[in-house]
Amino acid sequence: MLNVYRQLAVVDQLYKIYDQFIDSLDIVCKKFCADCCTCNVTMTTLEANKIVSALDLDSRQTMLDKLKQQMEKQRFTPKITTNQLADICLSGDDPPKEEVDASWGPCPLLNDNACPVYHLRPFGCRCMVSTQRCADNGTAEIDEFTITVNHVFLQYIEHIDQNGFSGNLSDVMAHTIIKESSDPVTKSMIIQTTLLKNSPLSALLIPPEHRKKIEPILLALRAIKA
Ligand code: SF4
Ligand code: SF4
Repeated sequence: MLNVYRQLAVVDQLYKIYDQFIDSLDIVCKKFCADCCTCNVTMTTLEANKIVSALDLDSRQTMLDKLKQQMEKQRFTPKITTNQLADICLSGDDPPKEEVDASWGPCPLLNDNACPVYHLRPFGCRCMVSTQRCADNGTAEIDEFTITVNHVFLQYIEHIDQNGFSGNLSDVMAHTIIKESSDPVTKSMIIQTTLLKNSPLSALLIPPEHRKKIEPILLALRAIKA
């Protein structure tokens, strides 16, 4: 199993491959366009580690205070992880019904319509792209192939972090800040988080019509050096 630094280096390479894919799309997303920054974003503990390790102690505490407030509010808390969803779908079973609503509010990290951790943001944020302004249509416009690509990247990231956890951004970030804290008061803090144990990737969820087109991306992912 890779140590966390090597895991994060793999995630960086993965983000780079995804950025190249996104550059080939005609998307309208830009800074301060933040309707997609809702309280429903999910992430892995590995991605939270990337953000938390870049923050000083004061920033961690400020962020934890915000996250604690958010955790008293309604937010999307997934019942299964991405790799578990893939396994269920590929076995022909129905996945559990999930409840998610953008009106539950913005991401607790959002500040004046800007993301304070933009360069470190998790893949769940990176993959929110649209070919039309969400503000104009009330929803993102994203083609089926991009949805397939997004799912593949989410599966890979969970696989890299297979000893970690997934969940709502607020839960995962709060859990990670407390776990990584050297302050005994913060460290002993008990918060109610809903985290799911990650699963390894057993098969990629790629519809037959996308298998040829996605091949160059899969080759690039398989060429990543750990
Ligand atoms: S996904 Fe929508 S709200 Fe988010 S940056 Fe793109 S256009 Fe803006
Ligand atoms: S972490 Fe940043 S990019 Fe992601 S939803 Fe929150 S504010 Fe938006």
